[in-house]
Amino acid sequence: MANFKAHVSIAAAVSSVAALVAVDARLIDGADAPWLIFLGTIGGMLPDIDANNSKPVKLLFNALALLGVTAVWVIFRNSYAQQSLLLGATATYVGIRYGLFNLFNSFTEHRGVFHSLLAAVFFACLMTCISFYFLQWDILHAWLNGLFVAIGFVVHLLLDELYSVDLSNTRMKKSFGTALKLFSYRNIPASALMTVCTIALYWLAPPPTPLLKVWQAAHWDQYLSQAKLCQ
Ligand SMILES: [Zn+2]
Repeated sequence: MANFKAHVSIAAAVSSVAALVAVDARLIDGADAPWLIFLGTIGGMLPDIDANNSKPVKLLFNALALLGVTAVWVIFRNSYAQQSLLLGATATYVGIRYGLFNLFNSFTEHRGVFHSLLAAVFFACLMTCISFYFLQWDILHAWLNGLFVAIGFVVHLLLDELYSVDLSNTRMKKSFGTALKLFSYRNIPASALMTVCTIALYWLAPPPTPLLKVWQAAHWDQYLSQAKLCQ
């Protein structure tokens, strides 16, 4: 298993290359690149959210807890006294950071359904929906956000699988085949549930037509000829 630092840096590097290629092929604007690289890097941390006490899962639940606290503050600030608000905000933080976190841990196993290609599609659709409905991005950019999360995600799975080959002894470690898989073969109900959620999210998401159109119109030929000239 590759460590956290390796995952973050390699996801960032691959996302940077993907963003540069996309800019070069005029698929995206140069100004979009830093945000998409950031999303690719986040995608590179996501598959390990099912590892109890891993850094990404703690970061995720801290972020969710802070989001909850902000929501409580914004919604109730005019209806309650400051002390009650403070108490409510603290309870929300503890409830999400520790209560929800422990519940999530008890339901997930490491390298389970969250460590699969199915989960990559799930998070891509989830990111697209969040971008479109909550962050108010246009359809093209919402799908690009989802796509870059998926790129980082798949890089993580590939890296873990590469690490399961013991290079010095040229033999496979026990973990070979557990990192990069279509879905969790050991936990079919969880995989079925994630499939249903993924289909629902795809159905909810706006049709990816603008992305497909831009993809077809992208100057791949020009990019490829440039790449050949560089060789
Ligand atoms: Zn992993």
